Formats: sequence, C-alpha cells, structure tokens
Amino acid sequence: MSRSDELFARSLNVTPGGVHSPVRSFKAVGGTPVFMDSADGAVIVDVDGNTYVDYCMAFGPLIFGHADADVKTAVSNALERGWSYGAAESVSLELAELITDNIAWIDSVRFLNSGTEAVMTAIRLARAVTGRDKILKFDGCYHGHSDAMLIRAGSGLAGETRPASAGVPDSVSENTLIAPLDDAQAVETIFEAHSGTIAAVIIEPVPANYGLLPQTPEFLQRLAHLCRKNKTLLIFDEVITGFRLSFGGFADLSGIQPDIVTWGKIIGGGFPVGAVAAKQELMEQIAPSGPVYQAGTLSANPVAMTAGLITLRKLLDGKHYENLENLGKTLDAAINAIADLSIQRCGSIFWMIPDGQNGPMRTTTQIPVDIGNRYAEMFHRLLNTGIYLPPSPHEVGFLSTAHSDTHIEKLATALTRPV
Ligand code: PLP
Repeated sequence: MSRSDELFARSLNVTPGGVHSPVRSFKAVGGTPVFMDSADGAVIVDVDGNTYVDYCMAFGPLIFGHADADVKTAVSNALERGWSYGAAESVSLELAELITDNIAWIDSVRFLNSGTEAVMTAIRLARAVTGRDKILKFDGCYHGHSDAMLIRAGSGLAGETRPASAGVPDSVSENTLIAPLDDAQAVETIFEAHSGTIAAVIIEPVPANYGLLPQTPEFLQRLAHLCRKNKTLLIFDEVITGFRLSFGGFADLSGIQPDIVTWGKIIGGGFPVGAVAAKQELMEQIAPSGPVYQAGTLSANPVAMTAGLITLRKLLDGKHYENLENLGKTLDAAINAIADLSIQRCGSIFWMIPDGQNGPMRTTTQIPVDIGNRYAEMFHRLLNTGIYLPPSPHEVGFLSTAHSDTHIEKLATALTRPV
C-alpha cells in the first residue's frame, strides 16, 4: 500500500470524500488521489517520493510556478511582522494602488478571501444598485459555490445532470437565469422575457471550468451591448483570466470592459485572496461607505497581500506574458502532432482533449459525451510517467514561467509512448 493510499483511507474517516475540495478526490478519473508533499518550480512531489511535472498548478494561482523565490522571500519577511492584524495595514493599500494605477478602468478594489466571496459581493452590489433581483449566467460557467451560482455550473459540477447543488432553495435558484454560451440571440430572448428585472449578466469571458470554451469577440461585444441597452450590469468573472492573459486580464486584452470584475487565484500569489473591483461610483456602495454589506476577519491578510503584491509587481513586466504565449505555441505544436488529441488554448490556459476535433468548441453541448473515460486513461498513463494533469476532463491545465520546452517535450513523449 502506498503512503497516498494509506492517507486517503484515513482521510475518508474524517473528511467528506477524503478531500477538502471535490475535484481533488480523483472521482472523475478514478483511483486514489495522490497526496502531495512539496513542490518547486514546475515540479510537484508526492508523499511516496514520486515527482511530477505539474500542469495543474494549483488550478491557476501559480503563474511563476511553485515556491517562487521572490514570493517566498517576501512572505517570509512578512511573517516576521505577524500574520494577521484585523486592522488597517499598508500592504493591501500598495496592492490596490498597483492595480488602479495600471488598469485604467478600475478605480477601487475590495479584497476578500476567495473567488467565491468576490462573486457573492459583485452580485449583491449589482442587485443593490439596480434594485433588481435576477442574474443571468451561462451554462458551464463556474463562479464559485455561493447558492445563486450553483446552477448549471462547471468545475467539480461539470458533467452533472442535476440542475443545482442540493440545499439551494428554489427561491434562490429561480432568480438565476441560464443562457447557452456563444448564443447572443438566446441572451436577447431572455432579456425580452425578463425585461427590467435582470440586475447583472455574469460570465467568465474565457470560460475555463467546463474545459476551455473561448467565446468570439462578436458574442462578448453583443453581450456588452445588450447589458447597456437593458441597464443591466456586466460582471466579468476573471478569477482565472485576471493577471494571467495580461495584467488587465481579458477585459484589457479585448477592450470589452465590464462594470464589475472579480479576481482570485493569481492576485493572491498562491495564498487565499479574492477581489472585486469597479469604478468609484459603484464601489462606494460597499460598506462602510455604502449600504452593501461585506466583511471578513481575514480579509486583506497581510501575508496573502504580500504574495499578491510581489506577484503582480513581477507581472508588470509584460515579457512574462510573451514568454508564456511562446511556450503555449510550443505546446500547441506538440499536441497537434499527436493523433486523436487536440488542444484549445488561450495564453497559458490550455485544455487537452482526447479527441480529434474540427474547429473550436464554444459550448458545453459540443463536448464529446464520452470524453471522461478517454481522459481518465490519459490522466493515469501520464501520472505513471511523472506528469500531473488536472484530475478531471473538464478542468483546464496551466503553464507557468517555470515550465520549459523540456517539460513540454516530456509531455509529448509520454503521450506518444505506446500503451
Ligand atoms: N470564478 C471562477 C471563474 C473560478 O474558476 C473559480 C474557482 O475556480 C471561482 C470563481 C471561485 O473561486 P474560489 O475557488 O477561490 O472560491
């Protein structure tokens, strides 16, 4: 019995499904989850001493790879000064200023502890300022685990046929309207049917929780237009794409700016952080300056803020995005050369599909229904050769600046090795 097997057996006694977040359980790929022990750069090591090139990268926060030396030094220094004050401090101020100085359409930021919290606050804010209750979200987009967002979500719920999590009251879910991705006409029809009642449309502008389903600029522009026309706020959930595709995320790259943006993952440099940001007039509605309540004992925790600050300062040098794009192109070429395998990629976010696809997939319904078994086989084959992919066919992979052409060659070799 491996040490991972042993630890998982013990965990099952004290934790639901043996894990603290569903996708970690390997439920989608079968087998026992590997318990990790340490990580550095692009490599992660399990409790049995096996090493893996990591393409999961903690599901996105680690754009510089594991245990980045600059973040580590700054965090160690921060720890020397204590790690939680529950009082005003200056690191979050520096981080907020760094963001507002470099993203022109953002005036004000509130830091919280997770992407889920960021989305909860964004929705509460949108409802408060519009005086409307309904939220429109997209089939397959994941926005964290608040009640209102657990309807046709992706991530750990991808592939589920149930419409929502158990425990979500109908009175909550009936205020969440669902539209298919890539279908502006469907959105227009929903706006017509619910005229004057939709507070916000929320979307991952590059949906990355049901595989990677890039949307066309035309679709997103039309969405922004429909929001303006109906006096509905547009929320871009950039928990994954924020600071990953460019410093200003998808909104800056595309020039399509939402009314509210939510961030998580990279903004905390691998520590627990989320953020909601917008123009001053909207943000002023949040407590204590306004009536929209939001609070947190550990919000803007100085250690997490330090990790975020150092990470974002480093990212201001755009060369990292250029390097990641080049690495992405190398990955594209390697995967496209392999029969029955295709890749959808946006910058350093990629989705490897064990299927020869023609053309990009943009909606959940275009994903082959039998992808699960083939992905599980590929996942375990790679795991056995020292490569760690996300343990679900619907989770995307991430490149970091710690990955190199050599890591990609190792992946390509493992994928082409006869079974
Ligand atoms: N929004 C998106 C787009 C996400 O991908 C996630 C998590 O993966 C969340 C929100 C929730 O963030 P967290 O897991 O930090 O609560």
